[in-house]
Order: sequence, then structure tokens, then C-alpha cells
Amino acid sequence: MNSDRDITITEVGPRDGLQNESTLVSVADKVALIDRLSWSGLPEIEVSAFVRPDVVPQLADAAEVFAQIRRNDDVIYSALVPNLRGLERAMAVGVDAISLFTAASETFAARNTNATIGETIDRFRPVVEAAVAEGITVRAYISCAVACPFEGAVAASAVKELAQRLCALGPMQIDLGDTIGVAVPDDIERLLAAVSPVVPMDDIVLHLHDTSGGAAACARRGIECGVTRFDGACGGLGGCPFAPGAPGNISTEALLSLCADLNLTSGVDRTAVAEAGAWMQSLVGRAE
Ligand code: MG
Repeated sequence: MNSDRDITITEVGPRDGLQNESTLVSVADKVALIDRLSWSGLPEIEVSAFVRPDVVPQLADAAEVFAQIRRNDDVIYSALVPNLRGLERAMAVGVDAISLFTAASETFAARNTNATIGETIDRFRPVVEAAVAEGITVRAYISCAVACPFEGAVAASAVKELAQRLCALGPMQIDLGDTIGVAVPDDIERLLAAVSPVVPMDDIVLHLHDTSGGAAACARRGIECGVTRFDGACGGLGGCPFAPGAPGNISTEALLSLCADLNLTSGVDRTAVAEAGAWMQSLVGRAE
């Protein structure tokens, strides 16, 4: 692993990207995508999610995908898990790291996790305990870290408080999501100023969406503020469920271009990622 990279990118296209594409992708094509990404220099790939198949049919094949990918020992293969049962399923296929999912907005948490924010934290407690005991790295997504599609602007102080409650469960990265992609650079700076006193900057991840075309500028400001970890989706996979037809996750390629502009190392081969992303875009009928 290139441990002296300046910027660490987690590729979330296979999970967050494909979860939000209406086209179902076969196990074989998911495996082919992940295998291509595995040798591009990416340090971490979020492979899938162990959630209820009736709720997220796009990722119902998580175990099969994990079983069939050709693993690179230098890559961390992670999965989103909603609860202890999800963790058990993920551990059965040898997951290296897990992601938990909550939101800084009660309405969004209710709609996406069927729980209050407090209940999601209660749900996570045994999951974090078990994961840490097994040496599995944990990250927690805080979605709606800037704004909620139902409640509007979200206060940075609320995100800070939630991050604190999450970190009290055990060691973890805190992944701040601009779920609807409305942030401007000043929002990112304000958010980081609120959260960085309670989460070390090296454990903060920015998860940006390019809904309104501002994700790269937000990433740049994040880097200026000291952020070293980002999520990206090759080919910008994954639309925005709240803005049909709009771009989804910031593309990994855009993050890599930004790194190149700023003379920062990521260890990732942009061409390899772009080729994998373009191939998957053609399969799901998305043209960037
Ligand atoms: Mg996303």
C-alpha cells in the first residue's frame, strides 16, 4: 500500500453508486468492475451493503459479489451494514471494514433508517463493539451534513453533536455527506470548523455529491482545511433520488484531477478508474 499518499480516496461506486442507479447490474459485471478498480491503486473499495434485499434490490447479491471478487491484499474491501445481522453477514464473507449510516436530520433518518437518530446510535453500539473486537475498521456516514431534502439547512453544531455521540461508541471515521449536493465551499469550511475539534482531521471523510456542480470546489476547500479522505464514485455513478437526472456522487476522476492540480499524491491511476467508470456508465445508461 502506498502509505505516504496525501489524499486517500474510497471508491464507493459499486455500493453507493449502483444502489442509486435504476438499472440492475449482474453479479458478473459488478465483480468485473471491482476487479478493475482493485488494481488501479485505490486503497479502499466499498463493495456493497448487507441490507434487506427487498429494500435495496440493487445490492441483494452482496455475498455473491464478495465471494467472487479477486482481492488485492493492498485494498480494504468494505460494506455498509445497518445492524448486527448485517455485520454477521459481512463478516461471513471476510469484510475488512464496515460503514454505518445515519443522518443529521430526523426526517431523513426516519425515512432512510426507519428510526430516530438516537435509535440508530443505539443500533450501532453492539455493531461497533463486535467489529472493533474483530479488528474491523468502522466508519459512520452522517448524511445531510449540510442540508436535508425535507428539513432544509442543517446546523453544523448538530453535526458536531452527532459526531461526538458516534465517536463515543468506539474508534471510527466520520464521513460527512452532502447528500443532496447543495454545499458551497463556505458550508464545507463551517462544517469542518465545527466537527474537527471533536474528530481528528485524519478521521474525517468528505462525501460530496455533484447535484449542482459544486462538488469539486467543495473538495478543494476541504483539502485547504486539512481533509485527507474523500469518497468518490467512478464515472460519477449514482444519481440523486431527490433530483431526478442530476449527477450523483462526485466522480473519483474529478477527485483525482483535483489532486493532480494541487500536486497531491493519491496513488491512483486515473486512466484505469476512468475506463472502469466509463464502462459501467455505459451498462447503466448514464453518460457523464
Ligand atoms: Mg453518495
